[in-house]
Amino acid sequence: MTIPLSFRAAGATDLGTVRTNNEDAALLSERLVALADGMGGHAAGEVASAVVVDRLTTLVAPAAGDPAGPADEDGTSDAGALTREALTDALTRAKGELRALSAVDPSMTGMGTTLVALALTPEGVVLAHVGDSRLYRLRDGDLEQLTVDHTHVQRLVDAGRLAPEAVREHPFRSVILRSLDDTSDDLPDVSVTDAVAAGDRLLLCSDGLSDYVTDDAILGALAEGSPQEAADRLVALALDHATRDNVTVVVVDAATGGADDAGDAEPDAEVGGVDEPGEVGEPDPSVAGDGATATPLRLLGATLATADLGPEAREVLDAYDSDAVDAAPSVEESDVEAEPDEDEAAVDPGTGGVETEDADEASAASAMVPDAAPGTSSRATGLWLGLVVLTFLLTTGVVWLTQS
Ligand code: CA
Repeated sequence: MTIPLSFRAAGATDLGTVRTNNEDAALLSERLVALADGMGGHAAGEVASAVVVDRLTTLVAPAAGDPAGPADEDGTSDAGALTREALTDALTRAKGELRALSAVDPSMTGMGTTLVALALTPEGVVLAHVGDSRLYRLRDGDLEQLTVDHTHVQRLVDAGRLAPEAVREHPFRSVILRSLDDTSDDLPDVSVTDAVAAGDRLLLCSDGLSDYVTDDAILGALAEGSPQEAADRLVALALDHATRDNVTVVVVDAATGGADDAGDAEPDAEVGGVDEPGEVGEPDPSVAGDGATATPLRLLGATLATADLGPEAREVLDAYDSDAVDAAPSVEESDVEAEPDEDEAAVDPGTGGVETEDADEASAASAMVPDAAPGTSSRATGLWLGLVVLTFLLTTGVVWLTQS
C-alpha cells in the first residue's frame, strides 16, 4: 500500500559568511527528504554528513552501476523498500561506517552529524531526527516547529531556566547532546508521525538558518511562492543576517497522490545554492518513478564525491557497500531504546524533552561538555569553549551560593 502523498521538494545551501567548506548535506526526492549538519575536526564534519546522506540515498536510488536498476528480485523497486525499518537500518549502518572510518583515520574521531529526515512509507510518514537540525510545518498560515532540539539550551528551556527567545544569544547554543556519531550509541529517533498531511509546507533546516533568523521571519519567507523560491529566500535571509555557519534548507510541499501520480506538481529544476561546489544536482530520471514530473533525486552540500576522503577511507566505504563488513555490530537497532549516556540520562528519547526536575543546569553543563567538545570543535575551539565553561561554572556557583 502506498500512502497518497508525494513530496514536491526543493532546496538551497550556502557556505555562510565565514566557512570555507560546507558540512551540511541534503537529499531531495519525492519520497524521502533529509538534511544533515556535520561536525568534527578538519574535514570530518562533511564526511559525517555525506556518509549519512549517501547511505539514505541508497533507499531511493539504485546502486551506482547496478544494471538491474531499481527493480529487485521480487519485482518491487528499491524505492518500494522505503520503510521505517529500512530507514532505521540505514542509519544504524551509517553509524557503523562512521566508526569504521574513524578507526582507519584518527583525525576523524569525534565526527558526527545531526539529521532530520522525512520518509513516505507504507506505514505512514516517518520522521527521523537527532541533534539541532529542525523540521517546521507551515499549515493554515501557522508555523510550528515539529522537532525538539537535542541541545543543552533546549534542556534549559524545557527546565524553565532559559527563555526561548534567549536561545539564539546563548554561548552554548551550538552544544548538541545527541548526534549520529562515531563514538556514542546514539541513533536518531525514528517514528511514524501524523503531523504531516497533504497541503502542508514543510521546512528542514540546519542551524545556520534557525540560529540566525527568527521564526516570524522564517514564516514570512516560507509562505510565498514555489518551494524553490521559498528555499532561495530563506538562504538569502540567513545571509542577510550574516550567518557564520553553513546554511541549508529543504522546502517540501506534501501533495496528494502517490509516486505514480505526483501529477501536476511542477518540479523545481533549479537548485538555489549560491556558489556551492558540492552540488551534484543532476536529476536522475531512473529514480523518479513513473511520474515524469516527480521531484528528481538531488543532493546538496557535502557529498562523498566532494568530501575529503583518503584511499583507506574509500576502501572502508567500499567494504560496506559490498556487505563485507557487518553494519554497526555494537549498536542497538532500536532507535529509542539506545542506552543513554550518563549526561543524557534526563533526556526522554521519545520526545527529546527532559525531566525538568533533574535537569540541573550546572551539572548538565559540566557533564555535557567533555562529550560535546569534540563534536563542536568546528564551531568553536576547545580553548574558547573551555574558558566559557569555566566562566559559566564559576558564575553559576556564585549564583548558587548567593541563592542558598
Ligand atoms: Ca550548522
